[in-house]
Amino acid sequence: MADYYKILGIKKDASGQEIKNVFRRLAHKYHPDKAGGNAERFKEVNEAYQTLSDPEKRAMYDQYGPAFSQAQAKGGVGGFDNFRDWATYAEAMKGQKTNIDFEDIGFGDLGNIFSDFFSAGGGSAFGRGFGQSRANSRVQRGEDIEIQMAIDFQEAVFGAEKEIKLERYVKCKRCEGEGIEPDSNLIICQTCQGQGQIARALGPFQTTTICPECHGEGKIPEKKCKKCQGQGREKSFSNIKLKIPAGINHGQTIRLSEQGGAGQSGTRSGDLYVTILVRPDPKFKRQGNNIFSEEEISISQAVLGGEVEVETIYGPVKLKIPSGTSDGQEIRLKGKGVSKVSSNIGFNRGGQKGNQIIRIRINIPRHLNKKQKKLLQELEEQGL
Ligand SMILES: [Zn+2]
Ligand SMILES: [Zn+2]
Repeated sequence: MADYYKILGIKKDASGQEIKNVFRRLAHKYHPDKAGGNAERFKEVNEAYQTLSDPEKRAMYDQYGPAFSQAQAKGGVGGFDNFRDWATYAEAMKGQKTNIDFEDIGFGDLGNIFSDFFSAGGGSAFGRGFGQSRANSRVQRGEDIEIQMAIDFQEAVFGAEKEIKLERYVKCKRCEGEGIEPDSNLIICQTCQGQGQIARALGPFQTTTICPECHGEGKIPEKKCKKCQGQGREKSFSNIKLKIPAGINHGQTIRLSEQGGAGQSGTRSGDLYVTILVRPDPKFKRQGNNIFSEEEISISQAVLGGEVEVETIYGPVKLKIPSGTSDGQEIRLKGKGVSKVSSNIGFNRGGQKGNQIIRIRINIPRHLNKKQKKLLQELEEQGL
């Protein structure tokens, strides 16, 4: 990543106003819709402005360098609030008292530019901000849906197939998401005369906004679909199959691409995020890929050694107790932990198959019969 100060061509001590002014000039210059525009530079400038215009982010950037914002961008869910890019862009443009021409910039196109930038990246890290960024542009993308699902300990260890019953927007079947009544056509939007945007006075300035009637499309259905009222989607209950990879751990989230709500007028569906909650097991605890359990043995087993049957997640096995085992001692059962996950979703990636760690508890009897008591007294006489 490049130097944000260099990108904007300003000094390290530039004031907020200076940064704003430079940004307006450069954003105007490089806007991809203009002759001589440059989408790559435009994106760079916008990125630099994002960080430097925010005092908190700027301080972080000054201290940690570009890695800070990169890490933020890769922060995955919720980590990258792109929608704010455009909000601040619009903000900066609004306050402009000189010759910025809104028609030139064309707010209606921001959505398009935006999707050009980010669609190639494959939405994963950008998933959430995206929908919001489009909120004030054309047609809204489908909503992301976040749910939680509780599963059993064993299901987490070995994987499971689940079904989620969910009410969400799905594509309208009558119009196949188009919002148009099947036998009708598109006609020019009368509200904007097909321009997709309408002029509006904002104080002393003339500005244009997206046409609310056609959402910037310039055309509207002659007859809206009767079933969805032109939305192209309808709420419906659906069953979604969810494959839970073996080895998933409490709190991990599975992302199902485009399984969230359907977008308006056939736009991209949102994603479905399922956070897994693992119910505790009475016998086993888990830490990473290792399984922990406790096993009680008798005094004589502890002293003399022996063999006991213990539970593992794979079923019972014989465990050798070495002579002289003390209370709290841990015995490791190699390979009896959680499997390394081969799934490409990335859980426990690179991890090894875990072990089972058995903590030995010695059962000290509270009640002894006469014979037991006599034998122990004899042991005592022997110095034990
Ligand atoms: Zn419909
Ligand atoms: Zn219109």
